[in-house]
Amino acid sequence: DRGMYRAKEKGGNCYQFVSDDLNAQAFERLMLEKGLMRALSRSEFVLHYQPQMSQDGQLFGLEALVRWQHPIRGMIEPNEFVTIAEEAGLIDKLGRYVLRRALSEYTAFCDELELTQPIKLAVNISPSHFLQPDFINQIETILSAFPSDRFYLVLEVTEGVVIQSMDDISDTMEALRKLGIGVSLDDFGTGYSSLAYIQRLPFDTLKIDQSFVADILNDANNTAIVDAILSMASSLGVTVIAEGVETEQQCHFLEQRGCTLYQGFWFARPAPLEQLLERGIFNTVKPEICTSETEETVV
Ligand code: C2E
Ligand code: MG
Ligand code: MG
Repeated sequence: DRGMYRAKEKGGNCYQFVSDDLNAQAFERLMLEKGLMRALSRSEFVLHYQPQMSQDGQLFGLEALVRWQHPIRGMIEPNEFVTIAEEAGLIDKLGRYVLRRALSEYTAFCDELELTQPIKLAVNISPSHFLQPDFINQIETILSAFPSDRFYLVLEVTEGVVIQSMDDISDTMEALRKLGIGVSLDDFGTGYSSLAYIQRLPFDTLKIDQSFVADILNDANNTAIVDAILSMASSLGVTVIAEGVETEQQCHFLEQRGCTLYQGFWFARPAPLEQLLERGIFNTVKPEICTSETEETVV
């Protein structure tokens, strides 16, 4: 059975030998799945936040990124458990937890520091959660517990969301827009990219996947893709953020090609809010977030 499931996981039409390794992996996975259920009830998750910066070094937004503070294994990165949470049917619970916690931490932080300038707060949502029929109700319920003038909420979804019916996504996005919530298309360029849906769906932001940025200085194909994304987004009036900017050279190169917003280790690694404060990140809030154009969409 284990061999068969593994072969199916790999896309089927292949064979997999059952080995000690595979047994160990299956056991490890089972332990993580069980652990996740416990972790949700015991609030073992913590959030780190990564700044999204403009080319002139000002803070444009913050992306909340979940980590699992495992009692034995220590800090576990999301790539190790988000897929398991999705497959185990726990991702909506995790998504609600992260959203509530991000709003609660950020608003408490604003109160303590008397920060009045609203900022873009981005939270990742898995496609299967985003497409739940009562998703909008869930979001409304969570938001109702928080003051609406401290942040402009943006939900980040990957392209996996678009394999579902266009009409369903479009309705959800429209309802979010009415609530003043933006939607960002994360890891753009890696999935089922089709220009048709970008044009039809009201995404606020496209996030160029870090794989394109990593090689941008050496790989002409990547440069061509980034150029195409930037020019398409500009004609559609969509904001673009380049992800995974690790060096000054990458940043400079992107800037020359017309990119104005960046996220990556070059600017700041994800960290708790207090650490970002110590690093002076909040001294540089980008004033245009609060212009009248965006004020009406602040939630
Ligand atoms: P993502 O949403 O695309 O987040 C960006 C990831 O890139 C983060 O990894 C971040 O630490 C990493 N990163 C940022 N700048 C750089 C850089 O300059 N170089 C490199 N090499 N990496 C950089 P992280 O935190 O491990 O998250 C991985 C993925 O896990 C996220 O990718 C997102 O898809 C998922 N994830 C994180 N938090 C959540 C969550 O609350 N809910 C859901 N559903 N997924 C989440
Ligand atoms: Mg993201
Ligand atoms: Mg991404």
